Amino acid sequence: MKSDSKLVTQLSGMPVLGVSLASVSVLRLDLCDGNAPGNKWFKLQGNIIAARKRGITTLVSFGGAWSNHLHALAATGLALGLRTIGIVRGEEPHSPSPMLQDARAWGMELIYVSRQEYKMRGEKAYIDKLQARFDPCLVIPEGGANLAGVEGCEAIGDLLVEEGCGHSTMVLAVGTGTTLAGIARGLGASSSANLVGVSVLKGAYDLDGRVAGFTKSDCAKWKILHEHHCGGYARVSPALREFILEFQAVHNIPLDPVYTGKAMFAVYQMLSTGQWSEDQPVVLVHTGGLQGRRGFDWLT
Ligand SMILES: *Cc1c(COP(=O)(O)O)cnc(C)c1O
Repeated sequence: MKSDSKLVTQLSGMPVLGVSLASVSVLRLDLCDGNAPGNKWFKLQGNIIAARKRGITTLVSFGGAWSNHLHALAATGLALGLRTIGIVRGEEPHSPSPMLQDARAWGMELIYVSRQEYKMRGEKAYIDKLQARFDPCLVIPEGGANLAGVEGCEAIGDLLVEEGCGHSTMVLAVGTGTTLAGIARGLGASSSANLVGVSVLKGAYDLDGRVAGFTKSDCAKWKILHEHHCGGYARVSPALREFILEFQAVHNIPLDPVYTGKAMFAVYQMLSTGQWSEDQPVVLVHTGGLQGRRGFDWLT
């Protein structure tokens, strides 16, 4: 690991719940890019470039009341002077979440839709209707999960190499697989990296096919672990909660329970069960998401 690196933190040998994580480094994307830290910024870059090419300055996208994606979109829109519109799942709450409050403060127009309408977010007819309503605009899929998003995340692969992590086992949380696919492409087929995605969803075996669709040629090897979801999306098991609290107490790096906490907990479990050797360097890609910690009272 390069000693002058600012973005990579090597963990000390101080054990967490009885296990040393001294072989683990963390790529701190959570410390980059101001109000839009983490992988969502990279996914948006690809989409913003696509919008710019077409002279479009209005971006429309979708998310729930705690969406890291809408949060990053609102922040990026403010920073770049773009109009942003968030289609939010569910009725307008009496007391909006801190995420929604931030998004509104940053100028995002929030449109609340019923859960039934929200289900149509991927349908062409619905997207065409939104397109016409805010024309000219770019409608970005939920989570920034499209080819432009994948292309934006290729830069994370470059960053890992620049930071001296090119030969490590690289671990990151997987929701839609967009970031994993982008990193695999950014690293390229000649990479000796071993890329491991940790699915935060229960039984989302279709993820493998989605990532494969984006990584047909010149990509690093990758795989997805499906047994570390801790109960399902945004669910928190008592063991995960204990791990996150202990990890931050020992290493002073905050994790969120939806994504990065599950990825780091998976690393811990692989090491503690001996499935991974302590000699093999591991780098956890900290994909951000810390704004979401505000939704968990045991963290605040
Ligand atoms: C969205 C998100 C992910 C998952 O990214 P995908 O590209 O959808 O797989 C991982 N970590 C954090 C913090 C996120 O917000």
